[in-house]
Amino acid sequence: AQRTPLPAFGGMGATADGHRVPLLANVGGGADARAAAEAGAEGVGLLRTEFCFLGREKEPGHELQVSAYREVFDAFPGQKVVVRTLDAGADKPLPFLTDSTEPNPALGVRGYRTDVSVPGVLARQLAAIAEAAGASTAEVWVMAPMVSTPAEAADFAALCAAAGLRTPGVMVEVPSAAVLARSVLANVRFASIGTNDLTQYVMAADRQLAPLAALNDPWQPAVLHLVRHTVEGGVQAGGVPVGVCGEAAADPALAVVLVGLGVATLSMNRRALSPVSAVLSTVTLERARELAALALDAPSAAEARKRVRAELPDLE
Ligand code: PEP
Ligand code: MG
Repeated sequence: AQRTPLPAFGGMGATADGHRVPLLANVGGGADARAAAEAGAEGVGLLRTEFCFLGREKEPGHELQVSAYREVFDAFPGQKVVVRTLDAGADKPLPFLTDSTEPNPALGVRGYRTDVSVPGVLARQLAAIAEAAGASTAEVWVMAPMVSTPAEAADFAALCAAAGLRTPGVMVEVPSAAVLARSVLANVRFASIGTNDLTQYVMAADRQLAPLAALNDPWQPAVLHLVRHTVEGGVQAGGVPVGVCGEAAADPALAVVLVGLGVATLSMNRRALSPVSAVLSTVTLERARELAALALDAPSAAEARKRVRAELPDLE
């Protein structure tokens, strides 16, 4: 079927009463970044750096990594680009890094954990990110995936500092990091909640299994309570901002709930920028808080979605 392209969003995300919520894009490479900039993204909230590593027999060298990251940074001059360090695992195998015989890849050596098993890869990636950042005007932030403990957050921040990267952050996608958000976030400058993995781990429901789709739903009130707890942890840690970069941010009604829970930025597929900004501009922050309370109190994901959508008649 022929698709009509969505109008470029091209503005600044905000609620009806002017509370700013920067709307950022999730991207997986240079071409993707240019398309996101074209669509009006205010920056990049998640650069998945796997694009530079997958399909290679050997770790990509310094120059290759620098030019791959620069291509993305150059698409967003003067704007924020959040780079996620390598998130490989047995499901995204790399011969020089991962063990593809792991029985349970989702619970295996992946994300930040690979740094402990194969030291050096992460430090070399950070060095390449730092060099690319130094050669561009983008405001580069760096975050690690699958961080599970305050000590990992502290170690990652130290590695970033050693590379000259001054804005370290963590993804909150493992439940332990959400539960201990205050201590984890005290070690970093920002956090971004990965609702895709957070949901699968909170609900113990593999995100790739269709029969578990109803459980694996970011509208699950248990997930929303952890989002709220993480935001509160950021406040207690001295005002560490918490964004969301999972698919939840691309669901307009859920995006309103996330803003009501205190999430500072939303990062999404570029195609969602327009619909999310449209619905956000119809609600005040106070109204978003009321809708968040409705969702938190719902007994199920289906009921949370239904209650909130019923209050947002402007949605399609
Ligand atoms: C997430 O887990 O929500 C996320 C954004 O990362 P990925 O989908 O790449 O695991
Ligand atoms: Mg993830």
